Amino acid sequence: MKADLAQRLAQAAEAYQAAVVIPHCARCSAPCCRLDKLVLDLEWRQVRVLWQVQAPRTEFDRKLDAGQGPQEIRRTHGRYYVHQKPCPAYDAARPGCRIYDQPLKPAGCSDFPVYEDGGVIVADLRCEAVTVDSLRARLSEVIGPGKQLRQSADRDFPFLLEFSVRS
Ligand code: SF4
Ligand code: SF4
Repeated sequence: MKADLAQRLAQAAEAYQAAVVIPHCARCSAPCCRLDKLVLDLEWRQVRVLWQVQAPRTEFDRKLDAGQGPQEIRRTHGRYYVHQKPCPAYDAARPGCRIYDQPLKPAGCSDFPVYEDGGVIVADLRCEAVTVDSLRARLSEVIGPGKQLRQSADRDFPFLLEFSVRS
C-alpha cells in the first residue's frame, strides 16, 4: 500500500515536471544549468566526457588537487562537484541541455526541482517554475481520500520543501 502511494507520488512529481517545469525552462530568468546556485554532482565518466579529459583519472585528480584543474570542479570521496560556472552541456543559445536524453545526464538533473524519495516529495523552490500551490494541487489529486499533505521546510535550506502524506 505504501509502495503504491510512493509510486503515485513519484508519477505526480514526474507529471508536474513535464507539465509545469520543463515548458518554463526555455524562458527561465535564472537557469539552474548555470550552476550559480546549484552544485552538480558527477562521477568520473561524466567529468571525462563533458570536460573532454584526455589524461588518466589519477593525473586529472592530481592536477585538480594542486589547483591546476578546472576551477569549478571540487572532488571528494570519489565524486566531483561543479559550481559557479555553467555546465559544459548547457547550450545557452537554445537554451537547453545537449545531453538531455542521454544516459550521461546526471540523475540529479532529472530529479531537480521536484522528486519523490521514500514516499516523500522534495521540492526545490530555487526553480522559479515551482509554486507551492500548484504542486500541492497536483499532489492532492493522487494521495487518495482521508489523507492529508503535510508540508515542511528544511531548517538549514528553507528553499527545500518536503511534502509527506498522513491519514
Ligand atoms: S531553474 Fe527550473 S525553470 Fe529554470 S531552467 Fe532550471 S528547471 Fe528550468
Ligand atoms: S547536464 Fe544538462 S541538465 Fe544537467 S546541469 Fe548540465 S546542462 Fe543542465
